[in-house]
Amino acid sequence: MFSDLENKIKSAIRDVPNFPKPGILFKDITPIMLDAVLMDEIAEAIVLQFKEAKIDAVAGIESRGYLFGVLIAQKLKVPFIMIRKEGKLPAKTIKQSYDLEYGTATIEVHDDAIVTNSNVLIHDDLLATGGTAVAAAKLIQQKANVVGFSFVIELAFLNGANLLQNINKNVQSLITYS
Ligand code: AMP
Repeated sequence: MFSDLENKIKSAIRDVPNFPKPGILFKDITPIMLDAVLMDEIAEAIVLQFKEAKIDAVAGIESRGYLFGVLIAQKLKVPFIMIRKEGKLPAKTIKQSYDLEYGTATIEVHDDAIVTNSNVLIHDDLLATGGTAVAAAKLIQQKANVVGFSFVIELAFLNGANLLQNINKNVQSLITYS
């Protein structure tokens, strides 16, 4: 459906081997940010993917989840919620901890950013193992509902979508690497 767009996105992404550590092929989306038309096309395509969903707010995961998350929220004319790493938000927050390869991490959101029982779309640039998005979903679910997950890129060989589908079946990405 988005084949022209898929090709444009894939051509724009820069593969950086062994970043941030050996064995990781990092998908660098910063070249996309240099193309204002492509940025807009990506946000439009994501809005189209969720046209059947009732979305009250978009929650973006720090930090690359903000890049398109804000654009998507603007197009939907709904609030944008910043999910941040612990210690960055100044007002009262709710928190969620999750396991990393080594140790744990905590994300948080301003308590007053989430309307109780509202329907929230979670967005990030890339889905890998799904651990970050599951933690984001658990955070949102402390007060509201998760109506779907949106990514620009999915690393399908890591099967992150399976984890997310236990929370909500509506898991969408624009391009997939298998
Ligand atoms: P995960 O929790 O494993 O799904 O990891 C997702 C988070 O890590 C997202 O916020 C991504 O931006 C980042 N990430 C993981 N793997 C990569 C990769 N190969 N290239 C770029 N970003 C990645």
